[in-house]
Amino acid sequence: MALKVTLIPGDGIGLEVTSATKDVIDASGVDIEWEIVTAGSSVVPAYGAPLPQYVIESIKKNKVALKGPITTPVGKGFRSVNVALRQNLNLYANVRPIKSYAGIPSLYDNVDLIIVRENTEGLYSGVEHMVGNDASESIKIVTRKACDRIIKFAFEYAKKEGYKKVTAVHKANILKLSDGMFLQSAIESSKKYKDIQFQDMIVDAMSMKLIQQPQKYDIIVAPNLYGDILSDMAAGLVGGLGVVPGANIGDDIAVFEPVHGSAPDIAGKNIANPTATILSGIMMLKYLGKYEEAEKIETALSEVIKEGKSLTQDLGGNLGTREFANEIIKRME
Ligand code: NAD
Repeated sequence: MALKVTLIPGDGIGLEVTSATKDVIDASGVDIEWEIVTAGSSVVPAYGAPLPQYVIESIKKNKVALKGPITTPVGKGFRSVNVALRQNLNLYANVRPIKSYAGIPSLYDNVDLIIVRENTEGLYSGVEHMVGNDASESIKIVTRKACDRIIKFAFEYAKKEGYKKVTAVHKANILKLSDGMFLQSAIESSKKYKDIQFQDMIVDAMSMKLIQQPQKYDIIVAPNLYGDILSDMAAGLVGGLGVVPGANIGDDIAVFEPVHGSAPDIAGKNIANPTATILSGIMMLKYLGKYEEAEKIETALSEVIKEGKSLTQDLGGNLGTREFANEIIKRME
């Protein structure tokens, strides 16, 4: 029986990179019935918001979605669709693998780490207000429940994927209550995982060490804001936003999407790199238990990139989005 997956093409380059990814996934032989639903700028005139309820309902029904980036309209009244989706569906773990691929120009050639970012609270809770005209407050919410589940997720992920070390990132020396709670949760949970090494690190030191010796880290688990910043920084270590995938995972729902945004500067030109979305698709297939097909795509993608003849512009080549996807499809045939 076909697996049902919600596909949200998104805005800007989202349309191009998700279409390329869908074709690559279909060519792997996996039987997926795609339910294509539209969200983003194009639905605002009709629905008054970029995230219509039918999108949420489709994801809740199918439990798994592949999503392109969505532009956050500038102006009052619009929350980020991405933050809303994660909170609405309780997708509490944001998983971002940072891996170097032979053939992609980058600072290091042997990086293989995962950033696990808390996805529902912290400074992204959306509790912000003015105090008079000249002061503002953003509330950072940290709960023991959210700390415990993200830390547990990180250790379980390490166990499942065969990683040996978990590093918890915080600023508990200054934020003694909020980050202190996150750190305490990590220290407590680490005692249950005797086979996995544990360390904690203050976020500023982590930033430096990640640039100097990224090979020393396996799983990095961090509160929302630090995880967001560290993962874009780490993307810069392995070739940029065009090649870093992501997954938003909850207890029984998962939404897979590239780390990059809708890139309005290159949208509609068939030049965006679909690799990040294809890698997100590979993560999705593994989540669905389709390891053989996932491996087939990963091997074809790695080979095409390694040869270096067929690359998109961001990686120094001259292939279009569609042509690059076709190279991968050809390789799988
Ligand atoms: P962006 O990631 O869209 O672009 C940053 C730079 O990277 C641009 O120069 C762009 O051309 C380049 N780039 C991004 N993806 C690429 C790819 N696949 N191939 C080649 N080059 C690529 O970030 P931005 O410009 O800050 O954001 C644009 C919009 O996207 C904003 O509205 C933002 O809110 C939204 N956004 C959405 C998501 C999401 O849906 N998950 C994530 C980030 C940003």
